[in-house]
Amino acid sequence: MKFEELPLANPLQRAVRAVGYETPTPIQERSIPSLLEGKDLLGIAQTGTGKTAAFALPILQRLLDSGKFRSPKTCRALILLPTRELAIQVEDCFKEYAQFTAISTACIFGGVNDNPQKQKLIRGVDVLVATPGRLLDLIGQKAVTLKKLEFFVLDEADRMLDMGFIHDIRKVVALLPQDRQNLFFSATMPEEISKLASTILRPNPVRVEVAPQSTPIERIRQELYRIDKRRKGALLKELLAEHPEMKKVLVFCRTKHGADKIVRVLEKAGVKCAAIHGNKSQNRRQEALGNFKCEQIRVLVATDIAARGIDVDDVSHVFNYDLPNEHETFVHRIGRTARAGKDGVAISFCSPDEESDLRGIEKLTRVKIPEGDQSIYDKLPPPQKETAESMMRNSRGRMSREEAQARAEETRNNRGARGRKDNRNENRENARSANAGNTQNVNAQNSHAMSTARPFGRSQNVNFPAGNTPQPQNGGRHHRRNRPGSRARRRMREAQGLQ
Ligand code: AMP
Repeated sequence: MKFEELPLANPLQRAVRAVGYETPTPIQERSIPSLLEGKDLLGIAQTGTGKTAAFALPILQRLLDSGKFRSPKTCRALILLPTRELAIQVEDCFKEYAQFTAISTACIFGGVNDNPQKQKLIRGVDVLVATPGRLLDLIGQKAVTLKKLEFFVLDEADRMLDMGFIHDIRKVVALLPQDRQNLFFSATMPEEISKLASTILRPNPVRVEVAPQSTPIERIRQELYRIDKRRKGALLKELLAEHPEMKKVLVFCRTKHGADKIVRVLEKAGVKCAAIHGNKSQNRRQEALGNFKCEQIRVLVATDIAARGIDVDDVSHVFNYDLPNEHETFVHRIGRTARAGKDGVAISFCSPDEESDLRGIEKLTRVKIPEGDQSIYDKLPPPQKETAESMMRNSRGRMSREEAQARAEETRNNRGARGRKDNRNENRENARSANAGNTQNVNAQNSHAMSTARPFGRSQNVNFPAGNTPQPQNGGRHHRRNRPGSRARRRMREAQGLQ
């Protein structure tokens, strides 16, 4: 089938040609005719299948056909999505497909000033793409009403529920007029989602289920590197230095802080990169994404939430810097490469505490991830010593103190004969722990002294029992306030009237 065979008006056919589509994808072929007839649709499809055009083109056609006009502060079609990135992406698609028509679009999402969004809504829009929170906010402010809505699309329903939007969705649905056409899309259809679908769709909707073109797993070459947490940055740097063919690299990590840290490491090594995560402003995120799309930066570091639904073509390599707790997330992550029939590479780093996640992922995907090039380890700095504390910290609370101590001991024993440097480290460690012992005593004494001698704050003098003067806690160095001749000391003494 060709696009020309679909009953779409000339301006839409022109736009389709302008964006370079020739044949409809399976979901487009199966959805567009039914949607043009005004039927409701339940679509089980992921991003990458062409589902945006599958709902956008028939909605635009029906908006053109209806002969109605938008009224102030209303919208005729509402597309609800979980993230701002997705919302912007979908509005861009609508703009492209509607470029030869007079149909207007707007996009509203949280995290930015709402004034420009309110301004856009004053005269009403034909197509409103929104995230639930900001939409309800603007409805509450009477900047927009849904009373005149003709088309309602709930996209990425499973992610909406994952992200806790269920109540917001219910609130929005309660505000919709009865007479409307509904489209409901989700990548998966567990019971909870089909229940939600049945509250939105009219009875007997058309059901279209489309598997991704081929299960990405099959087309993705995977590699695994077992590496301790502290050397993951060095490994990433080394792999990027060794493989210039890694041109468009998406690195996934778990935390915002972790993402920033990776960017610092890579920037230091001269790699052009940026991070997107929830703490970055919308403009910074869009800028980073734009630069990544047009290859001005080589590496985009993202947290899972920030990366949801991002559609970037030709990602050559996906790195799982941290393995995700939720094993399905792994499939979503690596599905960012090998899109549109192309090949891709997914490289996963696994630290000792992530072994159980790795097993879960391998079980879910039914793929045993092969180990990567072992010679790379020779180019990395030697592993740093794990202590019970670092083990516990890195295990994100999944390890008890006893377990961490046992593991640290095991790692220490496994290391066998050590070089002089390691011994030196150990001596230093011993000294430090001895100091820590002192510190604990001192703290105990301090707290005792505080509870008895200075109950009303820090400014009062503390009288330590004779012979129990606390030792400096920083290995014998003076605090700057106590360094003879320091300005801080002079000021303090002046304040005390001692100088
Ligand atoms: P989507 O699943 O809507 O996110 O679309 C994924 C990608 O496929 C986007 O980059 C679209 O521009 C592209 N696309 C959608 N429909 C077609 C088509 N019929 N032919 C070629 N590319 C398409």
